[in-house]
Amino acid sequence: MSTPSKKSVLNDVAQIELAKGFIDMDARLQVLESETTLSREKLIRLYKEIKKKSPPKGMLPFSTDWFMTWQPNIHSSLFINLYQSLIKSSDIDESVAILHAYRMYRSEILNLGLPEVLSMTRAWRLVKFFDAGMLTSTPCTTCHGQFVVHTFELVKDYECGLCNMPSRAGKTNQARVHAFTNDELSGDLSDELSDVLNQDVLV
Ligand SMILES: [Zn+2]
Repeated sequence: MSTPSKKSVLNDVAQIELAKGFIDMDARLQVLESETTLSREKLIRLYKEIKKKSPPKGMLPFSTDWFMTWQPNIHSSLFINLYQSLIKSSDIDESVAILHAYRMYRSEILNLGLPEVLSMTRAWRLVKFFDAGMLTSTPCTTCHGQFVVHTFELVKDYECGLCNMPSRAGKTNQARVHAFTNDELSGDLSDELSDVLNQDVLV
């Protein structure tokens, strides 16, 4: 979770840029309130200006169970791998890392022609569940990729949803997604990460 001291380092302009980034990715108002220091009123005005409509109302997703279902688990795992790589390889703020990791997730998904299963708000929630120690990731014993699991359900011989695929899954798409958690593509992924990190984090 972002600390107030970290947030105060960013000035108002940077805060607006950050909020705009989240709004562009269709984040809910609660996400904006949590990740920026801007007032609710200011955020609503900004949202309306960018999206030409009021922010959606309603409850945020609060259950960890959604992340455990087959397809969401694969998408969540992809996102959290991107997010954790960013956090480990740089000293950027958690808020900025969430936004960047989500942009990367979205562009990868688009490139692969896969449906965007994980929303910005869900991705944010996922990070908060990791912060709270409710969810964690564990390596698959077969492909060695890291996958999201319940912390209290850590099992010794975990096999991911791609290696142990339900019959309804489309094999071609799954093979492509699998490349992300596979060592073969880690070079490409780290190239991409360094590209992103060399850019101004808020652009
Ligand atoms: Zn696996």
